[in-house]
Amino acid sequence: MSSPLSYCQILIGRSMTGLVGLQEIMDELAEAGVSADAPDVSQKLIDAVGKHNYVPRGAVDQYEAALVREYRRHLQARESGESGRVWRDPHKAHNWYPTIFAEKCDGCGDCLPVCARDVLARADDGDAGSVVIVLEPYACSEGCQLCARACTRGAIVMPPREALHRNIAVSGGRH
Ligand code: SF4
Ligand code: SF4
Repeated sequence: MSSPLSYCQILIGRSMTGLVGLQEIMDELAEAGVSADAPDVSQKLIDAVGKHNYVPRGAVDQYEAALVREYRRHLQARESGESGRVWRDPHKAHNWYPTIFAEKCDGCGDCLPVCARDVLARADDGDAGSVVIVLEPYACSEGCQLCARACTRGAIVMPPREALHRNIAVSGGRH
């Protein structure tokens, strides 16, 4: 029996979106030597993702942008020998991470250096001055609010403290 496909959640537009088989798709493209800058990489990614997942027609551009961003990070992780993304731990509720309201974010970057877990990143592949997004929500440290406190624009909102208590209950107090 073949092993089940991977499952991960990535930020597409403003929503964390679950995708089946993305890890395998990115591995296959990487093994084939496809660069993240190849002209047809977004088409290859969306075609492959669409075999296992529903891609809303009106959101194709957002999917493509998110998939290319993920693939670029995947290649960088492979090159550097890092473990790559922090995916959802099924044993935790994982509802403690920031939400960033793009309409309030002016791209000042004050929130970036305070996060030791690389949860936040510039949108648009790191262009200086672009808005900040939540790229690694599941790497966020439960109870931490440092980035929200650093944002004087009020663009970062953390969950209510009750969410933290629910996390602890679900994980049996383990962190
Ligand atoms: S500190 Fe606030 S306004 Fe500045 S980049 Fe971060 S989220 Fe945007
Ligand atoms: S709450 Fe803390 S760990 Fe989470 S993104 Fe903000 S600074 Fe990083």
